[in-house]
Amino acid sequence: MFDEFDRKIFQENEVVFRKGDEGDCAYLIEKGTIEIFVSSGTTEQRLSLFGKGELFGEVALLDQLPRTATARATENTVLIPIQRRVVANLLDNCDPILRHLLLVILERFRGAQTATSSQTPENQLQIKRQSATRGEATQKISLAHGITRALTRDEFILYYQPICYLKSGEIAGFEALIRWNHPTDGLVPPMDFIWLAEQTGLIRELGLWTLERACRDWPKLRTFTRGNQPFVSVNLSPNQLTAKGLVSDVKGIMDKYAMKPSELKLELTETVVVERPDQASDILNQLIGLGCTLALDDYGTGYSGLEHLQRYPIKTLKLDRAFIAPMLESEGSAEIVQSSIKLAHILNMRVVAEGIETEDVRAALLKLDCEYGQGWLFGKPIPLDKYMQSVQGA
Ligand code: C2E
Ligand code: CA
Ligand code: CA
Repeated sequence: MFDEFDRKIFQENEVVFRKGDEGDCAYLIEKGTIEIFVSSGTTEQRLSLFGKGELFGEVALLDQLPRTATARATENTVLIPIQRRVVANLLDNCDPILRHLLLVILERFRGAQTATSSQTPENQLQIKRQSATRGEATQKISLAHGITRALTRDEFILYYQPICYLKSGEIAGFEALIRWNHPTDGLVPPMDFIWLAEQTGLIRELGLWTLERACRDWPKLRTFTRGNQPFVSVNLSPNQLTAKGLVSDVKGIMDKYAMKPSELKLELTETVVVERPDQASDILNQLIGLGCTLALDDYGTGYSGLEHLQRYPIKTLKLDRAFIAPMLESEGSAEIVQSSIKLAHILNMRVVAEGIETEDVRAALLKLDCEYGQGWLFGKPIPLDKYMQSVQGA
């Protein structure tokens, strides 16, 4: 694993690093012994003694602050330096919550010495960065805790937005959109918490809750639809799609509520398809195997062309609001909308235009042969109760 050039040899009593030195690597002891100590005045206090096969100075791999103690060979010793870049990538890409926890542990470990030995501008910058991470992470930890608690306290609620036949305006199906009915903050929109649920993996639990609730509500909701292919759409996040057991979970929920599989539509964005093409293809085919249908959400905001996606069994394309809303003013948006609809039809997909707010936009989309529309023009998302009340009041 290591070759001759990796090794460093230290004679007895030779110092490997001193307290205050910049730390950019750890050491693995191949042969010999190393003592770690701090000195005050003329007295030295030994903190630890390490021998063959042990690692020391590893904290430098994690936080780059100066060494808080001195390391010295107590006999002729051979060391293999382990450079920081070995773990730098892992650390940079790891979850901020984990990074924060690591920093808290390190800070405790380093104790008061950290503060006194880190007065250089570089170190101060490092500390500033760490406290920014800490602020962000603390917020995240409490939000993640809140989400978990909200699941157990049944604080989430589904709103349903109609997806209509563009021509008649009749309801073809619904999209289920989650909200958090927070005890003190009121109704919290999904944008404020879904991202964290995705980062932490809580989305898997939240996603199943959404799926279950949508299937439970469907018999009542279904009575508001027209046409012969009614559906309820549920959003699936990338993290959920790659979770073990998704297919059997979906099947279990459908069975529990006697949901007709063809009436459950799963919306996914292209991220997952682009990032893990083979895995996605396999799972999507299994979901299709259950009888569900799939929709590609937010189309146009990603980076892949539709041609690229044709190997996936996706029946519906949802054109993102970002192109629909400005399509009458922006030639660019209008062109994207037009060419996407054309291509979708060539690939035998039906198109839902998202974010239709005006009759003019609806008329323009009708001219382009778009089949379905979703947006405030047809109805904002509301809870099932409100739909039920509207019938009772009628
Ligand atoms: P999305 O899937 O693209 O959902 C459509 C969003 O556009 C909804 O926002 C809806 O309220 C909004 N919208 C619909 N028509 C109009 C319109 O005419 N004008 C405007 N300005 N907005 C319109 P919402 O409910 O805030 O949801 C935001 C996003 O949160 C969703 O975007 C989806 O990505 C995510 N989300 C919501 N519920 C869930 C869920 O249960 N699971 C997952 N994974 N994501 C969800
Ligand atoms: Ca969606
Ligand atoms: Ca969308």
